Parts: sequence; C-alpha cells; structure tokens
Amino acid sequence: MSNYDVVIVGSGAGGGTMAYALTKQKYRVLLLEAGPKFNPFTDYNLHKESWEEGYFPHKETSEGHHSYAPLQALESKWDDLRSWNVMDGRINKQANRVAYKYHHVRGLGGSTLTFTGESHRLHPGSMQMKTRFGVAADWPLSYEDLEGFYCDAERIVGVAGPESQGERWRSEPYPLPAHPISYASDRIRAAAESLGMTWQANSRAALSKPYDGRPSCNYCANCTRGCPRTDKGSVDVTFLRKATKSGLCQIRTGVTVTYIERSKSDTIRGIRLINEMGEAEFIETSQLVISCGAIETPRLLLASDELANESGQVGRNFMQTLSWSSSGLHSDRLGSFRGLPADSISWDYNAPDSIEGVVGGCRFSVGVHEAGLNGPRAYAKRVVGGWGRAHKDAMRAAFGSVLTVGSIGESIPNAKSFVDLDPAAKDANGVSLARIHSHMDEMEINRLAFMARTCRRILEAAGVEKLVEEYGSYDYFSSTHVFGTCRMGSDAEHSVVDSYGRSHRWKNLTIMDASIFPSSGGGESPSLTIEALALRAAKHFNDS
Ligand SMILES: Cc1cc2nc3c(=O)[nH]c(=O)nc-3n(C[C@H](O)[C@H](O)[C@H](O)COP(=O)(O)OP(=O)(O)OC[C@H]3O[C@@H](n4cnc5c(N)ncnc54)[C@H](O)[C@@H]3O)c2cc1C
Ligand code: SF4
Repeated sequence: MSNYDVVIVGSGAGGGTMAYALTKQKYRVLLLEAGPKFNPFTDYNLHKESWEEGYFPHKETSEGHHSYAPLQALESKWDDLRSWNVMDGRINKQANRVAYKYHHVRGLGGSTLTFTGESHRLHPGSMQMKTRFGVAADWPLSYEDLEGFYCDAERIVGVAGPESQGERWRSEPYPLPAHPISYASDRIRAAAESLGMTWQANSRAALSKPYDGRPSCNYCANCTRGCPRTDKGSVDVTFLRKATKSGLCQIRTGVTVTYIERSKSDTIRGIRLINEMGEAEFIETSQLVISCGAIETPRLLLASDELANESGQVGRNFMQTLSWSSSGLHSDRLGSFRGLPADSISWDYNAPDSIEGVVGGCRFSVGVHEAGLNGPRAYAKRVVGGWGRAHKDAMRAAFGSVLTVGSIGESIPNAKSFVDLDPAAKDANGVSLARIHSHMDEMEINRLAFMARTCRRILEAAGVEKLVEEYGSYDYFSSTHVFGTCRMGSDAEHSVVDSYGRSHRWKNLTIMDASIFPSSGGGESPSLTIEALALRAAKHFNDS
C-alpha cells in the first residue's frame, strides 16, 4: 500500500499551497517537482560583487524549454509603442513581434522564487467579463466566495498592505502594516496626484515586521533575484515550510512527470515520470493534482493523449502579461535604487470599464527595480554610455536619478492566443515542447496605448526631462504572468475544471494553478488569487 493519499505535480503557487492545505486536513501528500531545491541563505547572489549579473540565479534544470509560433507583423501606426533604449534605439529591430521570454523558475516554490511579491486580490468587477462585456469567461465563483481564503493566504504569507483598497473590500485588516513609500517613489506619487490620480502603498508579500519566525525586509530592492532573508513570501518559505513541518508531506525534487495514465470508469490510474536518477518510473495514485503552471499543465495534458480535453479548451484562451514601462532621468539625486520594489500603486483604472473606449483595466506602479535599473551596470549599459572620464562623471551625476512608471493591463483571450504541442521539438524525455501562440488584437493594443500615454504623463509631471527607455508587449513577448489554458467554469462544454479545480469528467483529477483563470483581471498579480483558490479547493477536496 502506498504511504500517500494524494500526488501533487508542481510546487509553485498552486501546488505548494495545495500541499499545505491538504496536509492541514491530514491527507498524506507526495509532492513531485521537476526543478531543484534552492537554499535562500546560500544560493542567491546579492552578497556577491557580481550581484547585478543576470537575474534569478538559475541552476541546471531550473528553467524549462518551450517554443513560439511566429508572432504577428508590426504596423507603423503603432510605432509609438515600440520598445526602445537611448543607447541602442529600437530593441526589436524586426518587422514582427519577437519572443523574448516566458519568465519562470522550475524549483521548489515554482516561479514565486523569483516573483516580486506583489500580493493582490482581484477586482470584484473583473470576474464576470462574459456577462458584462461579452469577452473571456465568467468566474464560476464570486469575490465573496474567495474573500475568507484571501484572508487566510495573506495571514500565511505575511502580507503587508494599506488599510483599504477601494472595491476590494476586506473582512479583516492585512496581517502587517504597509511598507513606507521610498523617497523616489514619493515623487511619482506626488506627480500622479497632481494629475488627479490616487496613489497608495502596494500590498506586498514582504514582511514589514518580523513575522512567523522570519525577519523583516531590509529594502535591498532585489526581490526578483531571490530573497536571501526569507522575508519575501515565496511558497518555499511559507506554505511548503508549514507542509513539511506537518510530517505529512514527502517532497521529491528533480522528478519530471511525462504522462498521466487513465484507468476505466473516468478515473486516473497514475503517472509516468523520469525520476531523480534519470530513470523511468510509474506511480499509482487515487488522487492527482496537476499544478505545473499555465504553460506546462496544458502541455502535460495534451501530451497525455489530450486528457481532460473533452471541451477542447485545454491550451486555449492563453493570457499573458500585458505590460508597459517608461523610464526617464530626473535632474535631482533621488536614490531610486533604494526601497522595496513596486512599493506603491494606482488602482484608478483597474476596473474593466474604467478606460474610455476599451474593455479591461490596468494598474500603474513604481517600476524602477522591476525594469532592472537599480545597479551601476544597468546604468552603464542602458542609461549613460560613453567612455573614460566623461563616462565616470556622467555615471556619478545620473546614478539613482532614473524614475520608472510601469503598468500591467488586462489580457483578454482571443482565438489566436493558445498553447499547443510543438510538432517538431521535443525535450530530453521525448515529450513535445509546449508551443506558445501569442496575438495582440486591436483592443489589447488600444489598452496598451492608454497605459503608455499615462506612464509618460506621470513621468513628465514628476519633472523627468528625458526618457531613456521604454518597453512593452506590443513588439516584445516577455511574460511573467500567464493564465487561462485550462479555464474553470460551471459548464463542462466550455471549461476544463469546476470552481474547485476538479475535472468535469475525470473523478480524481484536480488542476490548481494559473491555468484555471477564466479572465486575467486588470493587471493584478496572480499568486495570491491562485493561493486563495487552492485553499478553497483543498477545503472541499472530499466533496463529491
Ligand atoms: C519575474 C517574475 C515576477 C513576478 N512577480 C509577481 C508578483 O509580484 N506577484 C505575483 O502574484 N506574481 C508574480 N509573478 C507570477 C507568479 O510567480 C506566477 O503567477 C505563479 O508562480 C504561478 O503559479 P503556478 O502554480 O501557476 O506555477 P509556477 O509557480 O510556475 O509552478 C509550477 C511548478 O510546476 C513544476 N513543473 C512543471 N512541469 C512539471 C512536470 N512535468 N513535472 C513536475 N513538475 C513540473 C515547475 O517546475 C514549477 O515549479 C512573477 C513571475 C515572475 C517570473
Ligand atoms: S527587498 Fe526585502 S523582500 Fe525583497 S529581496 Fe530584499 S529583503 Fe527580500
């Protein structure tokens, strides 16, 4: 007899939270993760002179492979939305949109190891996009259904946030007070307010006080490079730490699941995998949870002879980060390399009907750290240029004076954006790679144009004299948030799973990760919502 009740595949925001919540209910969990384990105290590079080289310090096998279908042609009428830099001119010099990256980490804790740690609830008005606007699909649950689980997730993670966030009502305060807004961010706040916008502290999975055995943040400003203090609420130091302590969670890293086997009567029999030794293995299970993320979950299902694809929706409805970022040089010394990344935010245009002439919202936040403009190397390569004495003088004058305003917007599914299996490329285990098809339609581009205009207006109002760099999704696929490829819904004909992530057909199969989102929200970061959905799903795990 096996010594586990449930097998979970993938240990990120979805899988890691499920492991915690199921062990809490005394289920014995076997958690399988393709990537390695990271040790925050030894594996991250912020204490090294070379800290600025590269971003998250990947290990062998901690990045997956995927491919891209050719992307759309660019039109001259949108030239204003092309990414550029003061030193290099256009970043994408091609006539078509180019794929830079689907940013992610394969590792214990998944992509939360590299996430910034913005910790957002969805706008309640963005969960009924089909009924209200005829786009995407409705969530089969409401904000009210999730609210208590949001509170639970925030408590476990240790979220620091402001007293209120408008329509995102709360039944209890954030567990920790909001972080202070840095000196440079305060310039952006004042500029936005001078334009009539509201700007407030962001809710962050970074501790503003010591909490639950973890120290408070020291504002080193490099969350995406891996937090060496464990105060950032990534899944490894929060949900998984607690799951491990329960004694009910066995974890195996370096294990890649390659195929899900069915048995008779609409149930899953088990999974095939390549184990830590590189050998093929089969594991039987009576309950299976797939949490491989919005690219790898549909890949695994499609590669398992289209398992759970009765609706034809596996891999469809792919949504990505719709993003824009404008950076400029201010003449004052602002020390903008300091502070907590994305410490402040405006939700003014976040509701799906808040941008004139466009369906779908967006948010604006301080973005200098996320743009990577917080170290001398970045300034030398992307802002200042030149050689010798003149370069040194210019570096001294400029360092710390870049301000960046970033924006993330709603991504609405369209028929040309989906994930399928690449017919020509396989990984080392012989499984076809996921192939990403990404297309931006006119509405998406109009939303992006509004985001770009507003970022520029805020920088101008802040006294920025010269823009130095802008980049966005129009000519560049570079995505950190991906969703939608196994959407949930109440109707088996048009969705893959129900509101608890349970397959409409396969009785012992649950999917729990960003793939189940029916719509993306107006620029909210997704991890807290994935975690709340997982806590809710685990609570109802035994319901029929
Ligand atoms: C740079 C960056 C910044 C971000 N900032 C934020 C932020 O501020 N706030 C926020 O909320 N979100 C942020 N995100 C997004 C967030 O990290 C993801 O949305 C979230 O982690 C997705 O959770 P998931 O469970 O869907 O997938 P993941 O967290 O990606 O986890 C999937 C896991 O499954 C494993 N896996 C995949 N295939 C297999 C297989 N076949 N066998 C075994 N294991 C497998 C992977 O190795 C991985 O560990 C950011 C992401 C990036 C990259
Ligand atoms: S800014 Fe805070 S949360 Fe981010 S890496 Fe540094 S110490 Fe960790």
